[in-house]
Amino acid sequence: MDNRSQPLRVVIVGGGTAGWMSAAAIRRQLRTEDYSVTLIESDEIGTVGVGEATLPHIKIFNDMLGLDEAQFMRATRATFKLGIQFCDWDRPGDCYIHPFGAFGEPWGGVEFQHHFFRALRAGCQRFSIQDYSYGVVAARNNAFGFPDEDRKSIGSTYSYAYHFDAGLYAAYLRSWAIERGVRRIEGRVCDVSRNPTTGDLVDLTLKSGERVTGDLFIDCSGFRSLLLGNIMGVEWQDWTHWLPCDRALAVPCKRLGALTPYTRAAARRAGWTWRIPLQHRTGNGYVFSSQFINDGDAQDALLAALEGTAQGQPRLLRFSPGRRERAWCGNCVAIGLASGFLEPLESTSIYLIQAAVIDLVNLMPRPGSGIDPRLVAEFNRLNEMQYERIRDFLVLHYIANRRVGEPLWDYVRSMPLPESLDHKLQLFRSRAALPNYQYGLFARDSWLAVLVGQGIVPDGYDRLADVFTVATLDERLVNFRNRIQTNVDAMSSHGAFIAEYCRASEAAASEEAAA
Ligand SMILES: Cc1cc2nc3c(=O)[nH]c(=O)nc-3n(C[C@H](O)[C@H](O)[C@H](O)COP(=O)(O)OP(=O)(O)OC[C@H]3O[C@@H](n4cnc5c(N)ncnc54)[C@H](O)[C@@H]3O)c2cc1C
Repeated sequence: MDNRSQPLRVVIVGGGTAGWMSAAAIRRQLRTEDYSVTLIESDEIGTVGVGEATLPHIKIFNDMLGLDEAQFMRATRATFKLGIQFCDWDRPGDCYIHPFGAFGEPWGGVEFQHHFFRALRAGCQRFSIQDYSYGVVAARNNAFGFPDEDRKSIGSTYSYAYHFDAGLYAAYLRSWAIERGVRRIEGRVCDVSRNPTTGDLVDLTLKSGERVTGDLFIDCSGFRSLLLGNIMGVEWQDWTHWLPCDRALAVPCKRLGALTPYTRAAARRAGWTWRIPLQHRTGNGYVFSSQFINDGDAQDALLAALEGTAQGQPRLLRFSPGRRERAWCGNCVAIGLASGFLEPLESTSIYLIQAAVIDLVNLMPRPGSGIDPRLVAEFNRLNEMQYERIRDFLVLHYIANRRVGEPLWDYVRSMPLPESLDHKLQLFRSRAALPNYQYGLFARDSWLAVLVGQGIVPDGYDRLADVFTVATLDERLVNFRNRIQTNVDAMSSHGAFIAEYCRASEAAASEEAAA
């Protein structure tokens, strides 16, 4: 049958962040007459309900949808995020920030880190590398302002993301997508039928008996991986040997003190705890390895670390780090937790959803033309690259620790590394060379932040950095650091900025009640 004039029927299973981001992007980017979108979600099952910290890319996604930033921030009780503060990762007492933005600037065509390490060797390095990042200094000062659009200005050298309430974000996108024609069905998928010849998915049967037929199925069913894992049988690639954390306890608490424009990730005996400031509460969690601590002790440690009264009982989530061997198989594409999960240390899951959605939109089959295996292969190649690059970066946080005598930390310090990470480490140790990807995460400055933060010092640097005299280098470094400090001193506090720009009425009410 020639159905070229028929729209391609896209069926999404799952109404968490992944489902609604997928639905919204398809509706925004592709013509309604070419693609119909149906999303099935189950109130009975619910969503994972965590995922509060993001990366700057989310702003590109929101802008693509045309969301009003202040309105979106009010609706999701959001705050700004300039980076992540890592406490006690190298050894107890040490802290560093991984900012969204640059360290220094290239001089004489040579990347900044070479000048920094040269100065360190010459004994004229007066500051930590952290002092050369606008994002770090602003975060440390609890300051916020929008980056300068003038690329020559030092105020353009950082960017920002958000902390938000994940449930409210999914609800926000849901309204946006439904208003633009996405059909939402509430119901539980109980049965799936496949074409006996091709193995492709044909239709889904809901608990109510309703059948939903599609041409392309997007599996956003969360950890269940209902379609890709359970029905298509795509194997799981397990990375527990590199990332041993496999559980998390999450609990919000009352917000106290200044509104910090950064996430905190503090290393603990058997993992790490997060602290995410929202307007109306603080999100907290303990990500841990069940090999090294039991659930009860982890819960005690989490509750002891809270800055305010817990709002409810901690919720336990079990997961395996890793990914499905292929995210796209036949006419089924998995996005979000259904395709893989890496611990939320660098807030990468929502980014991975966004990247997959954008790749899918770019490679989307045309109505009536079937699914081109070359496009499927390309999607899977990109997805694998994303996951492996992020995995290497996460592993990096663990391996160079000096927390001797703590079993988890002793294990990760001595475990065999992924080859791809080992290669990057060798290059850095030899010449301070940093990965420079054209696609995916993480950027050079991110690697620099964590490598130096974890106390890894290279043996050498690019000799082109010797172009300046040591005195000139010293002067440049001091000037650069002072320029940042002067600019940051003139910024608003993060709390004042939020209050003026996007304070949610609920947050205002609870602050007034507390006063
Ligand atoms: C501890 C933890 C902390 C995290 N922190 C962050 C973070 O800070 N930043 C970040 O980017 N990410 C974070 N994440 C990841 C983030 O939560 C997820 O990537 C994001 O919420 C997307 O989830 P999802 O939509 O894939 O799945 P879910 O939210 O689980 O949604 C699954 C959907 O599928 C539906 N469903 C399932 N089965 C059926 C069925 N049979 N029939 C009908 N519907 C069905 C459910 O009802 C639900 O609507 C974290 C994850 C964990 C576990």
